Amino acid sequence: SESAVAVGIDLGTSGARAAAVSAKGDVVGFAAAPFASPSEMANPAAWWHRVSECLTALGAATSLSGVEGLAVDATSGTVLAVDERGEPQGGVLMYNDPCPDAGIIDRIASVSPPDSPARGANSGLARAIHLSGLAPGLTLLHQADWIALKLGLETPMTDENNALKTGYDLATERWPDWIFDAGMPVGHLPQVRRAGDPLGKIGAFGVPFGLPETCRIHAGTTDGCASFLATGAGRIGDAVTALGSTMVLKLASNHPVNAAEYGIYAHRVLGFWLVGGASNTGGAVLRALIGDERLQELTAQLDPDRPTGLDYYPLLKPGERFPVNDPAHQPRLTPRPADDAVFFQAMLEGMTAIESLGYERLRSLGAPTLQSVRTVGGGARNPIWSRMRQRALGVDFLPARSVEAAVGTASLVLARRSA
Ligand code: ADP
Repeated sequence: SESAVAVGIDLGTSGARAAAVSAKGDVVGFAAAPFASPSEMANPAAWWHRVSECLTALGAATSLSGVEGLAVDATSGTVLAVDERGEPQGGVLMYNDPCPDAGIIDRIASVSPPDSPARGANSGLARAIHLSGLAPGLTLLHQADWIALKLGLETPMTDENNALKTGYDLATERWPDWIFDAGMPVGHLPQVRRAGDPLGKIGAFGVPFGLPETCRIHAGTTDGCASFLATGAGRIGDAVTALGSTMVLKLASNHPVNAAEYGIYAHRVLGFWLVGGASNTGGAVLRALIGDERLQELTAQLDPDRPTGLDYYPLLKPGERFPVNDPAHQPRLTPRPADDAVFFQAMLEGMTAIESLGYERLRSLGAPTLQSVRTVGGGARNPIWSRMRQRALGVDFLPARSVEAAVGTASLVLARRSA
C-alpha cells in the first residue's frame, strides 16, 4: 500500500480525528478519539489527551515513518491565553461563547473597519481581548495553535484562517493597529503565517506516535476551511453546500468578497479565496416539524416534477442574515398541507430556493459564477432533494472526496511538499 507522507489533525466539538494521506492524496490511515463528555470540549487538557490518543491509534495502524509534515485544524474562534511555558491561564472561550465583557464588543465596533470579521456580538477578537487582559504577559492562542505548541512548536504561531476573526488584516498581512486601540495588549498575539506554511519541526515530540523527528509542523486552518478542502473542491467556482442543522454555502473565488451585513467574509487558502455565507434555514426545521425518523419514508413520496408552489421560507424563529439580511425575517411555513409528504416537499423547495438565492447573492456581491456543487451534511443523503437542487442550480453536482476535516488539513500539508 502507499505510504503516508502527510497527516491532518482535526479538533472539533465531538473530539479529535487524524488522517494520514499518501503523496497522491489518498487516505491511507484514519483514527478518531471522541470526547468522553461534553465538558471535554472546553478543556485544553482533554484536547491534548484526545489528540495524543488519536495520533497513537493512527501510528499503531499505519506506518508514519515517512510523514514529512502535519497540520492542525480546530474550531474557528475558540481562544485561550497561555503563559511563557505554554500553560493555559484563565480558561477557554469557545467559538460560541459570548464575550463576558460587552464593553469590548462596543470598543471593537468603534475602532474597526466596517467590513471586519472581528466585529459583532460573536466576535473572536472580543474573546481574545478579554482573555489576554486577565494577567500580564499572556499570549493569546487559537485552539489549533495550542495543539501545534503541544506537538513541539517552539514559538506560538498561528495561520491566517484562524487569525481572521481575531482581526488579522489579510491585505497588509499584519495585525492592524486598530486591534490595539480596541484593547488587545501589544505583543500578545502569535505570529501569523499562511495556512500550510511550514513552521518548525516536531523533533522528539513525534517519537511516541511513530512520527520522524524531521516531520514538519505546518500552519493549520479552521474547521470550516478544512471541511471545504476535504471535499476536493478548489477550482474557482467550485462550491460546497453544507446541509446540516443550518445551511452553509462556500465558494472558491479568485478574489476576496466581504459583506459584513450578510455575515460574508473571505479566507485565503492555498491559491484562492474561500467566500461563504450561512443561512438559518436547514435540517433543524425538518427535524423540529417532521422528525428525522420520518424523512426517509416521506422522501419516497416526493414528487419533484409537481412543485407545490407554496413558496416557504423555512426557519425555526424570525431572523435571517444570509441570503437576506433581516433580523426580523419571518418564517413562511403556511398553509400546511394535510399530506406530510407535500409539507416536506414544500420545505425542501423553500430551502432549495434559499440555496439558489444564496449563490446569486454571492455573485451579486462580486463572487465568481457557480461552476459545481458538492454537498455535505445530513441533507446530502437525500437523492430526491439533490435532484431538485441540481435542477435549480443548473451546474454539475460532484461527489465529496471526503467529509473529514482532517483530510482537508492534510491536503494543505501535501500542497507544500518540497519536490
Ligand atoms: P449538524 O449540522 O447538526 O452537524 P448533520 O450534518 O448531521 O447536522 O445533519 C443533520 C440534519 O440533516 C438534521 O437536521 C436532519 O433533519 C437532516 N437530514 C437527515 N437526513 C435527511 C434527509 N434524508 N433529507 C433531508 N434532511 C435530512
